[in-house]
Amino acid sequence: MKRVDIIISGGGMIGSIAAVAASRQGLSVLLIEAQAASTIKQDSSRDLRVSAISADNINYLKGLGIFTHLLQDRIQSYSKMHVWDNRGDGEITFEADYAQNDCLGYLMENNNLVQAAWNSLDDNCQTVQQTQIKSIENEGAQIRVELSNGDKYKSRLLIAAEGRNSFVRAYAQIKTKETPYHQKGLVSYIKIENAPIQTALQAFNAGGPIGILPINEAEKIFSIVWSLPEQQADDWLQCEQQIFEQGVTKAIGKDFGKITLLSKRAAFPLTQLYAQAYFKNRIVLCGDSAHGVHPLAGQGVNLGIGDIQQLLKVIDASVLKDDDLLHQSLRKYQRRRISKVKETSEMMSILHHLFKDDEHIKKPLRNIGLKVINKLPFKKWLAGQAGS
Ligand SMILES: Cc1cc2nc3c(=O)[nH]c(=O)nc-3n(C[C@H](O)[C@H](O)[C@H](O)COP(=O)(O)OP(=O)(O)OC[C@H]3O[C@@H](n4cnc5c(N)ncnc54)[C@H](O)[C@@H]3O)c2cc1C
Repeated sequence: MKRVDIIISGGGMIGSIAAVAASRQGLSVLLIEAQAASTIKQDSSRDLRVSAISADNINYLKGLGIFTHLLQDRIQSYSKMHVWDNRGDGEITFEADYAQNDCLGYLMENNNLVQAAWNSLDDNCQTVQQTQIKSIENEGAQIRVELSNGDKYKSRLLIAAEGRNSFVRAYAQIKTKETPYHQKGLVSYIKIENAPIQTALQAFNAGGPIGILPINEAEKIFSIVWSLPEQQADDWLQCEQQIFEQGVTKAIGKDFGKITLLSKRAAFPLTQLYAQAYFKNRIVLCGDSAHGVHPLAGQGVNLGIGDIQQLLKVIDASVLKDDDLLHQSLRKYQRRRISKVKETSEMMSILHHLFKDDEHIKKPLRNIGLKVINKLPFKKWLAGQAGS
């Protein structure tokens, strides 16, 4: 049986960043990915899944050496965010706090980030791909796992970073509360002739918001995340290109010149998910295994990176050896992260419900809402979510 300090199950964005961060802290790690680890090539077609990573988290990725491994011509910084409601005259613009950061964040394809993190792993980290945990024993101060390839490992901690449907979370019998938004997030790439530069755009409409995120400014390429009622999303997936382009133009509601669809379209069901606990004994949850939030402010990965930072603040080699210390540390992790995630997720839900439909009572609220937000510290909070 081989021995490591930490086993991480799931080598997506959060699992692979966690593996880099833990191994930089001198901990030995085994990273297990069920699929072949996601890759990207300079000339390959773009991953439809794109994430906005906040400026503070970009600084964290720089500190870990991951940022330099990103394909630099496939990322795009943005320093402004312009949000408006197409059913009123409310608008907000966020700008980077230039005293702290030179931008609000960067847009990147998910597989660019995964590949960069895998390429940053050092000798402290062993990896296995196309393999999963088959069985787990968690007795006393050890976790023992058997993998589907027959290998056996023991460790002091098992991190579940397996996304929403986590095998390890189910093994630990950690319950979840999942609330469907009855919406899908439709994603694709478009070209916009005259969009403002360095700016992420978001328009609210009856049905849901559309986020328009610059991914290659020189070529005028934008990624869209369009939240829609399920049936409408399915209709927009299947319609003719020209109809889709007209639909996107109408959903944006401002004249930024010609819009052209550049890619396939895909749609993902949107649900809010809370794990009722973030750890059990020596098993701990990170990223979407712990929480799922509405993508309207692009916070899923950012919250997951926050989980990693908090977890690695409270554990080290000596804490891992001591049952009581580890329990205290994981309780601290859970307390801090559950409150942060709840605050973010509930705020996203309030915005989602406020802007979702056209009920008369909500219309004036929305109009006043965006104008008031534009003037209040709440805007700073929102900008912080976008930019930290
Ligand atoms: C439409 C849409 C748009 C979004 N936009 C943004 C955005 O702009 N910004 C943002 O921050 N977030 C965004 N999100 C959320 C973001 O995509 C997720 O929060 C993020 O993917 C979570 O990363 P993760 O590594 O926790 O999970 P995942 O990305 O789901 O990765 C899990 C990994 O674990 C592997 N795995 C699963 N089961 C096992 C197993 N049993 N054993 C081993 N490996 C396993 C999987 O193969 C995968 O590689 C968006 C989400 C949606 C739906």
